[in-house]
Amino acid sequence: DKIMLSDTINNLINQQITKEFFSAYMYLDIANYFEDKGLTGFSSWFKIQAHEELDHGMKFYQYLHDNNEKIILEKIAAPNQHFDSLGDALKESLKHEEYVTSSINKIYEEATNEKDYRTLEFLNWFIKEQAEEEKSAQELITKMELTDHNNRGIYLLDRELSKRTYKPA
Ligand code: MG
Repeated sequence: DKIMLSDTINNLINQQITKEFFSAYMYLDIANYFEDKGLTGFSSWFKIQAHEELDHGMKFYQYLHDNNEKIILEKIAAPNQHFDSLGDALKESLKHEEYVTSSINKIYEEATNEKDYRTLEFLNWFIKEQAEEEKSAQELITKMELTDHNNRGIYLLDRELSKRTYKPA
């Protein structure tokens, strides 16, 4: 079969599959932290976040299959996170999304240099999605700060977050 993507693009997307599945693992770990604190709304919000990450991983995976490209599934690391506070867990999630954005931007940059229009078109969805991910992570941090770490505020925020429903990407 005709090779559609360069080795560099193939490698970057293979690595991105691992990063997206790692993101799911990381969010499950954050959900676990909130569950331990009795904050089941936060926990549910992050479990849905993990579902979305699996969808992201599957989109990259399918893109390689659709182009007859080889897929190499790498090891997914343990998240091994420690959080000092509720706000700290939220900040880690924003930091992680910023890292994922920069990783996707690198693929975009390479595809631009290679004039790989097919990959650029595919990545456009992710460019928009990352803007959304960073925005929602930032909103959570802001809302948590607005509670001033007051129990009643955190309780109400937990109730609000419990209303999020999963929609496949
Ligand atoms: Mg993602």
